[in-house]
Amino acid sequence: MLAEAWEELFVAVEGGEFAGFAVLPVKKYLDNFLAGPGGNMCLRGDCGAARDLLSVSSDGTVEACDCIDPTGPLAGLGTVAGGLADARRSDVATTIRHRDLSASRCADCLWLGVCGGTCLAHAPSLNEVWDSGCAVALSAFDRISLSLVRGDGLLDWLRSLTAGCAHA
Ligand code: SF4
Ligand code: SF4
Repeated sequence: MLAEAWEELFVAVEGGEFAGFAVLPVKKYLDNFLAGPGGNMCLRGDCGAARDLLSVSSDGTVEACDCIDPTGPLAGLGTVAGGLADARRSDVATTIRHRDLSASRCADCLWLGVCGGTCLAHAPSLNEVWDSGCAVALSAFDRISLSLVRGDGLLDWLRSLTAGCAHA
């Protein structure tokens, strides 16, 4: 369902229907494909959660990422009062940074470096993969690579973005 919706969006972008509009669900994959991982802290081998990123809730609780369920097992690194450095050193934060997908389908996937193995906030558990996110990523990187070989539609769309600042 999610992958089909992404595919429809991609076809429209590739076909020039969104000239001048930064369609972020497509652009984030294309940017990573062209520029490599790093700029996007979600689409890379080690996501930003508890690494580049900490999130503070209104009650002062520190989380690894605002996308992580604050009632789940990966929640509650510490508190602002207790110090951000201690939160980053907490057992939960350390566990998050040790996410290991080597026993998952990602281990043999060509796209792991620019995909990261899907958002851990959506994954069923720390070392598992979010199925819908995986389906979108597989489709995205396959479609982008083929499109760049076959024509200039995507690059023309990227160039069109410099002429405006609209988002979709
Ligand atoms: S596309 Fe799927 S299998 Fe490949 S790295 Fe991403 S989540 Fe893993
Ligand atoms: S938990 Fe998800 S949203 Fe948060 S940084 Fe990691 S991949 Fe991105």
